[in-house]
Amino acid sequence: MRIDILTLFPEAFESPLKCSILGRALERGVLSVNLVNIRDFATDKHRVTDDAPYGGGPGMVLKPEPIFRAVESLKGANSLQDIVLLSPQGRTFTEEIAKEFAAKRDMILICGRYEGVDERVRLGLITDEISIGDYVLSGGELPALVVVDAVSRLISGVVGDAGNVVTDSFYRGFLGFPQYTRPQSFRGMTVPDVLMSGDHKKIEQWRLKQAFKQTLRRRPELLVLAKLDDTERTALEQAKSELDAER
Ligand code: SAH
Repeated sequence: MRIDILTLFPEAFESPLKCSILGRALERGVLSVNLVNIRDFATDKHRVTDDAPYGGGPGMVLKPEPIFRAVESLKGANSLQDIVLLSPQGRTFTEEIAKEFAAKRDMILICGRYEGVDERVRLGLITDEISIGDYVLSGGELPALVVVDAVSRLISGVVGDAGNVVTDSFYRGFLGFPQYTRPQSFRGMTVPDVLMSGDHKKIEQWRLKQAFKQTLRRRPELLVLAKLDDTERTALEQAKSELDAER
């Protein structure tokens, strides 16, 4: 998959894109991220990319021309089918949207700054608008990194032996199970016996039940939309009755 990112601050991406799983995915070429500096597409000699808002008020607004030109420069390299603006006003990013994006051949992410982008970017250029949550950040760079990271995990071969995305929180519509590692006993807290049993079937059932207990305690509303198979439904019922018994 290819992701082109339009930004005024390409340096904000350097170290996050080098680390760990994401870094390896880029190295192996399963994913490629191309950083486009919006400033390179400014038309005047001072390379101006922002200007004062019409109607007055504080702050600056990103001008439309450099952003349109930067997107158009990608023609041929990118299908230009998915042009996504990072914005607090977009639809809230979820694992479902990450799955939707991971199935695409390519996409473009546009990072705003200051007071945001000229409304004509919204009206005449983008195909989608994504928010990473109900709060305002000073730029779209961190949101773009959030999207790239979440999407890259879902591209086959990226996570690999480093983990199993299928049992992670949200992948199947509910939370993940609790994890333990050595030592077996730590400050009076011991690892549940079943995890030491070597019985893989039992371990799998226990983990599924714990995942549902965790979800029932913390995010019960997720279960309204989760599409469960028979095994999952049985585990959910067990989790419910165990929680009831604990009350
Ligand atoms: N004036 C705008 C906010 C601008 S914040 C408004 O009221 O909606 C500056 C830039 O940061 C935005 O253009 C966007 O690219 C990015 N940004 C801020 N918060 C964000 C969020 N929650 N999700 C995604 N992008 C965000």
